[in-house]
Amino acid sequence: MDIIQFNIIDCSINDRKLLIEKLKERFLISRRRFLEQTSFLGSSALFAQSLFASAAIASDGTAAVDPKLLDRAKALLEKAPLIDTHNDLPSMFLETKAGDLTSFDMSKVQPTLCADVPRMREGRIGAQYWSIFVESATQKSHTSLHEALREFDVALRFIQSTPDLEQARTADDIDRIHKAGRIACLFGVEGGHMIENSPAALRTFYELGARYMTLTHWDNIDWADSATDRPERFGLTEFGEKIVKEMNRLGMFADISHVSPDTMRDTLRVTRAPVIFSHSNAFAIDPHPRSVPDDVLQRMPANGGVVHVNFIREFVSPLNPAYQEKRTAALKNLHARFDTDDAITKGIAAWEKENAPPRGTISDVADHIDHIRKVAGIDHVGIGADFDDVALDSMAAGLENVTRYPYLFAELLHRGYSDEDVLKIAGRNHLRALRQMEKVAAELRKTEAPFIGEGVKAKWTS
Ligand SMILES: [Zn+2]
Repeated sequence: MDIIQFNIIDCSINDRKLLIEKLKERFLISRRRFLEQTSFLGSSALFAQSLFASAAIASDGTAAVDPKLLDRAKALLEKAPLIDTHNDLPSMFLETKAGDLTSFDMSKVQPTLCADVPRMREGRIGAQYWSIFVESATQKSHTSLHEALREFDVALRFIQSTPDLEQARTADDIDRIHKAGRIACLFGVEGGHMIENSPAALRTFYELGARYMTLTHWDNIDWADSATDRPERFGLTEFGEKIVKEMNRLGMFADISHVSPDTMRDTLRVTRAPVIFSHSNAFAIDPHPRSVPDDVLQRMPANGGVVHVNFIREFVSPLNPAYQEKRTAALKNLHARFDTDDAITKGIAAWEKENAPPRGTISDVADHIDHIRKVAGIDHVGIGADFDDVALDSMAAGLENVTRYPYLFAELLHRGYSDEDVLKIAGRNHLRALRQMEKVAAELRKTEAPFIGEGVKAKWTS
């Protein structure tokens, strides 16, 4: 999940914290309003049709898709299998109906949710990592673990009550479930704050089915720096290194999306298994602080890891940095003119209405893939779209919902990618890394004892 869309780098620390809180609040309110509207529209056949839009013209209206390439892409994805490493549906269950799954018939299109079985089938998804996401602000109240368990609970109930889905715990499980015609489901914990500095919680998450943990989310944690917070630990602390090693022993990917470049480099230094970026793009194409710099991409072949690209507009469009610069200037101007948070929040909302952010396109996402292929190699690219809402403009144009994966692969075929390349990006690279990680874990478990030291929790004063 990625919910904040402005450049915090130029703001002072106090302003930054204040702005993050305000923007989080505003975003959540607007998102709920949107959900209310879409529930109202839910019965509209027109709306349902638009969700299934599969015209030969991409939704940005600029790129015609060759129907033959689209058919070829669909056939390859069915074979691959297509593995997506990031989708925030469990959070949507909790946000919309407090986790009451009887409100949803997942065998039908659910316009208020970011995924359902018919649309996942349309998108040719073979395996999905469901994100266990809890705001990193919960580390202040030490409620992260409690909230994480609510996420696991709703995600497990969802899988167990949906006949088309089956939980996978290994790479072999993914292959078996895919061959049986069901969608394989795994979990990724999006933020190390959720273990509350306890390797016992990490091991319990593994037993529940987590096969990756993103070391941080948007804020620093006690043992690792985030890409979107100020440098505090300058990478991993000693405790953080031990957590990564315990993840290696367990057989859980260290996911270095969201973390600072120093944390990425420290993780690559200490890990004994492949890492993943569950949803990250190339810094060279869109220089957002949470994108992957080239020196880290260059280290992927030696590590064996995979960078799974996301479709989120602000991490995709090369026009985004210039837009964020304009937005930061507008924000500074509002700070100079107004004294109250309310006036500033209203002011920036009005500015955003006048100045729509760049969407990015299927072609931009393919540019990220081209770049990662050039620097890291074809064996180190995957897909982690990060669908997390039902807004039609959160993602790159043409990739609005889970039905749209084949359009991206048709674009790659159009660029000369081979069938083998497509199979690798769609899922085989991930399966290779997962198998390698399982092998490392099996070896380490023979010689290493579980890490049982509990980390010290920081005292939060505000
Ligand atoms: Zn995220």
